[in-house]
Amino acid sequence: MELSDVLLGWYDTHARVMPWRVPPAQSKAGVRPDPYRIWLSEVMLQQTTVAAVVKYFHAFTMRWPTVAALAGAADEAVMAEWAGLGYYARARNLLKCARLVVANHGGVFPDTRDELMALPGIGPYTAAAIASIAFGRAECVVDGNVERVMARLFHVTTPLPAAKPELQAHAAVLTPDMRAGDYAQAVMDLGATVCTPKSPSCGLCPWSGACLARIKGCAAELPRRTPKPTKPTRYGIAYIARRGDGAWLLERRPDKGLLGGMLGWPGAEWGAEAVEKQPLSADYQSRQPPAIFASPQHLP
Ligand code: SF4
Repeated sequence: MELSDVLLGWYDTHARVMPWRVPPAQSKAGVRPDPYRIWLSEVMLQQTTVAAVVKYFHAFTMRWPTVAALAGAADEAVMAEWAGLGYYARARNLLKCARLVVANHGGVFPDTRDELMALPGIGPYTAAAIASIAFGRAECVVDGNVERVMARLFHVTTPLPAAKPELQAHAAVLTPDMRAGDYAQAVMDLGATVCTPKSPSCGLCPWSGACLARIKGCAAELPRRTPKPTKPTRYGIAYIARRGDGAWLLERRPDKGLLGGMLGWPGAEWGAEAVEKQPLSADYQSRQPPAIFASPQHLP
């Protein structure tokens, strides 16, 4: 039996339940997930955990159930709904992408990797994931979980990131033509629940018989990584002021950079030294600062 079939058999009974997914039994019957929900979840999941995303996914899909509804939303409303999820360029690209899908594609997501990659905020991984999961295309979907599983299954000892092309090539060979979306989610689930970073549960793994790292007894040592250079410490100044009527002094941050486009405490850009800057573009607002900034109750 092919390794992909073995994994799909495991996935049929072990698939994680997620609000944007179609369960394996329905998927095998030909039911496809809504591309809008897959796209939204994949953008939210970029550098963010499933646990953190679920609440935001529900909020977005309750408020904007279709890509057309989202495209018609005010920028302010979307940024406010995104507050706390981080990496705010994603929210701006989300809106741009929704509006392009409506304007150029009649409100229907394109179904190929190349067309998807032409949309804002959709890189190679996200395009492959949408094409595979939402449209059943045999695209090779490789995230950090999949890299770890491939490194162990094929005993790849080259450190990351240099090992990426080799891991991608292994993943591509395994990707089946049939049930490609289920297979992509199955490898992700295996990496998230069984082939975990520190202590893989090889005894529960459907691929344990074929896994070279398990056979050699070095699963937990892979994948290897080239050490990252130390990040520099950066300094900045934030001005915190409150008027007698309770309004806070807030300013909209520049579109690019840290917390881009968000409303927050006024201040200068962060750098090697803190630089004072008059908060000339700030204004008093009666609304509360977003939760991502310091909680007012904790301020002097
Ligand atoms: Fe990972 Fe162990 Fe399965 Fe190999 S046998 S893929 S190391 S969980």
